[in-house]
Amino acid sequence: MKKKVLIIGAGFAGIGATIQAIEQGCDVLVIEGRPYIGGRARSFIDKDTGEIIDNGQHVMMGCYGAVLHILRRLGTEQLLYRQKALSVTFFDQNGEADILDAGHLPGKLGIAAGILGLKKLSWQSRMQALMFAVRLRLMKKQSVGETSLEFLRRMNQTEESIRRLWEPLILATLNAHPSTADATLLIEVLQRAFFGGREASQMLIPRNGLSELLAPFVPYVQSHGGQVMLSTSVESLKYHAETSTVSVIAEGKEYHADTIISCIPSFALQRIASPSLLGEHTYSLLGDMVFSPIVSLYLWFDRDFMGDIRFCALLQTVTQWVFNRRLLCECSDELREQYPGHIALTISAGTQIVGEQAESVVALCLEELRRCFPGASDATLLSWKVIKEKQATFLAIPPIEARRPEQKTHAKNFFLAGDWTKTGLPATLEGAAQSGIDAIVYAHKQ
Ligand SMILES: Cc1cc2nc3c(=O)[nH]c(=O)nc-3n(C[C@H](O)[C@H](O)[C@H](O)COP(=O)(O)OP(=O)(O)OC[C@H]3O[C@@H](n4cnc5c(N)ncnc54)[C@H](O)[C@@H]3O)c2cc1C
Repeated sequence: MKKKVLIIGAGFAGIGATIQAIEQGCDVLVIEGRPYIGGRARSFIDKDTGEIIDNGQHVMMGCYGAVLHILRRLGTEQLLYRQKALSVTFFDQNGEADILDAGHLPGKLGIAAGILGLKKLSWQSRMQALMFAVRLRLMKKQSVGETSLEFLRRMNQTEESIRRLWEPLILATLNAHPSTADATLLIEVLQRAFFGGREASQMLIPRNGLSELLAPFVPYVQSHGGQVMLSTSVESLKYHAETSTVSVIAEGKEYHADTIISCIPSFALQRIASPSLLGEHTYSLLGDMVFSPIVSLYLWFDRDFMGDIRFCALLQTVTQWVFNRRLLCECSDELREQYPGHIALTISAGTQIVGEQAESVVALCLEELRRCFPGASDATLLSWKVIKEKQATFLAIPPIEARRPEQKTHAKNFFLAGDWTKTGLPATLEGAAQSGIDAIVYAHKQ
């Protein structure tokens, strides 16, 4: 008899769990509350321009093994733009650029050469960063309640390199400022991605909308005899103390399964679970979680002003990353003609800006762009869209990092996954995908 697996939520965690369950020969049922899959990683058509945009520009890296496994199964890996080697341009407010280019030497030496090539950093900063990279290789990841800033200072990183190099990377990968982001997560990201070798540190960017990457998911599940129920919210989890099992109530119907995996965010789980099911430790964490917003801007111009720069970081500005979507993404000839310039901007850990009027955010970012790219001053803004994801990810401060829960709960058949669970990674697509896969592997070992 095939094992019955029920998966709640079809974001990257739920999709990872589903694919793993299918690979382990299970019968799967996926229940997703929204009319679409993808969760916090989705795309839609902007109604003013007709262009496909995401709920926020997402970037992946070569070390995203779990995500790439999913995309290979769905046959969509080729829809990603992949850098040959890590190359990031950092722009000062006065428009001067510095490039971290790992492409000059092979393997791990590439990043070392890249750091040495950062001309705007003093020699002392470069040498300290290099020594730090060497020490990182053997460093243990044990949460000791340290923030990334404290850790970087303890590693003798200069204020200059923290500001110009580490901060943009921390904001982009941990969605938190160095002064709050847990240091163990930074160590993991640096070991895996930046110092993990040439392939691991390549940036990968979807060439089409995020939803297109996942479009074959529902047919894939169906072709393996499974079912995906969209627009169906799980209303509660029924805990049967006598058998120590859980069943799921959705739209008034009760569903039983050998294994049930929760792949929903912590705040959604809080609505349907009880302390007796999760245990006091996990249940109280659900109420203590804090979230970090990401503000994304999509701007359309009458001309291109980024030239051959695909993406870059802006330093000491509200705008953190700029993506040249006309170089990175596919679009129709009509859109290219009508809007020759199309860029996306991201502001991670955007607590200070998320409450501002969209018009003010656009005006502020536009002014910053014009300072960094002289050509932007002649460009006319034709259309714009601001997307505020207030609960983009949980805020990985040290006290929360230490409390992230593992898969198991008090019920024999109910397990936890999602980007907020104990993955050892920040809240990312990779953390989510890996958590889903791991939850199935763990559940079936019990
Ligand atoms: C703007 C933005 C930019 C980001 N940029 C990056 C990036 O560049 N790189 C990166 O790696 N990560 C990035 N992330 C983070 C990444 O998107 C998330 O970590 C990841 O998508 C989380 O996946 P998940 O499956 O854990 O949760 P979710 O994607 O939230 O999926 C959970 C699903 O469960 C469903 N659900 C909830 N409650 C119920 C219920 N009761 N019944 C049924 N279904 C339910 C929801 O509808 C949802 O589809 C970004 C996130 C945002 C918001």
